[in-house]
Amino acid sequence: MGNNELLRRIPKVDNILRHEAVASLPIPARIIADVVRGKLENLRQSIINGQIAELPDEDEIIRDILSSAKKAAKASLRRVINATGVTLHTNLGRACLSEKAIAAIAEAAGNYSTLEYNLEAGERGSRHAHVEGLLCRLTGAEAAMAVNNNAAAVLLILSALGQGGEVVVSRGELVEIGGSFRIPEIMEQCGCRLREVGATNKTHLRDYERAINSETRALLKVHTSNFRIIGFSESVSLEELVALGERAGLPVIEDLGSGCLFDLELFGIYDEPAVIDSVKAGADIISFSGDKLLGGPQAGIILCKKKWIDRLKRHPLARAVRLDKMTLAALESTLDSYLDPQRALNEIPTLRMLASSPDELREKARRLKAALNERGVDCRVIDEIDQVGGGSAPMQQIPTSAVAIVSKNISADELERRLRLSDPPVVGRIVKDQYLLSVRTLFEKDFADIAQIVSEAII
Ligand SMILES: *Cc1c(COP(=O)(O)O)cnc(C)c1O
Repeated sequence: MGNNELLRRIPKVDNILRHEAVASLPIPARIIADVVRGKLENLRQSIINGQIAELPDEDEIIRDILSSAKKAAKASLRRVINATGVTLHTNLGRACLSEKAIAAIAEAAGNYSTLEYNLEAGERGSRHAHVEGLLCRLTGAEAAMAVNNNAAAVLLILSALGQGGEVVVSRGELVEIGGSFRIPEIMEQCGCRLREVGATNKTHLRDYERAINSETRALLKVHTSNFRIIGFSESVSLEELVALGERAGLPVIEDLGSGCLFDLELFGIYDEPAVIDSVKAGADIISFSGDKLLGGPQAGIILCKKKWIDRLKRHPLARAVRLDKMTLAALESTLDSYLDPQRALNEIPTLRMLASSPDELREKARRLKAALNERGVDCRVIDEIDQVGGGSAPMQQIPTSAVAIVSKNISADELERRLRLSDPPVVGRIVKDQYLLSVRTLFEKDFADIAQIVSEAII
């Protein structure tokens, strides 16, 4: 059959759209129409390019269209079952919010609110007011505000304080986070010159002292959140830097990265600094993320001395990086949980996950194994190691239990692929050719779903 004849035989768009199986799909007509046109156009191109010499039969074309239309109609941002054991998995959305915070989001989203309205005065209020009091109470800071994320916080701080001058930072702290956030590049964006001091492994107070000149606007300390320099190394403490800042009349800024309001040492996580310690040490401005160890929504929290926070609130960029009402509602609710540490631990999933003891995790893994066995899935419980994630506590290896799936039918790679493409998707990890479901980050309510999905995948 010649190409022209093949092209003539391609079904017409309208005929396909009228086909019963296609017409009865519960999917918006414009999505279906786009999929049908795309498929038929592909077919046309394949004929013209000589890639096919024969048309697929109509049933096959219809099957292909049905499956593509279903895929196209799915939301892009979807729930994922996180079986990686990485509590703050940046690619999977970092912190899961407390039920209270989720309810607060719904309330703020579906109603008018006091977002910028002061009820007592009956006039315009401040959007910062909803979290400022809580942040000050929890950390001992004089003033506080919150912006879109910690990257925005650093951008705002350096723009407001450093523009047109120099900011001094140690060479050991020129952090890059997630590829696109690099301290030197952020500085450039903010119109300030980076004054690097010291060496990668050692920076002394005298290095900072020597760098200070009439152009210096601030001293910056950056928490090396996603790496550690170990061995022959030395850095200047925040206390020493604050004393130097006072002598030189310069503000000291600290980017804490994760920043936690909870004593994580209680559950064996030792190398993350507590916000309260930096406040006590006398930093002028501290910033950290809302959705890392705090366990709240994506936000950048800025706090400490009122003089500087007031300046940040008035800066033109503050408007561009301000928080929306839903995030503010979730942040206020999350911070409220911290007023009582025990409540924070009960209510905030991030803390609950990190606080799970090896015994609890082993029991949890046994329950998951039982649910899987019930579906005929062969598996065993093994000891494993989890990471915190989100550029927090990179050296920390926290002991956990995982369920290793045993299958004679398919490889670990193939199982990984099938589970990732299932609905809902399950994302686990492969260690030494074994597919593992790490239980720390799983919700028990998902066990039945997981068992069903895995049993279907290994058939
Ligand atoms: C994570 C991190 C940031 C960026 O914070 P986001 O909330 O992700 O924008 C900035 N600085 C440090 C040191 C970090 O660890």
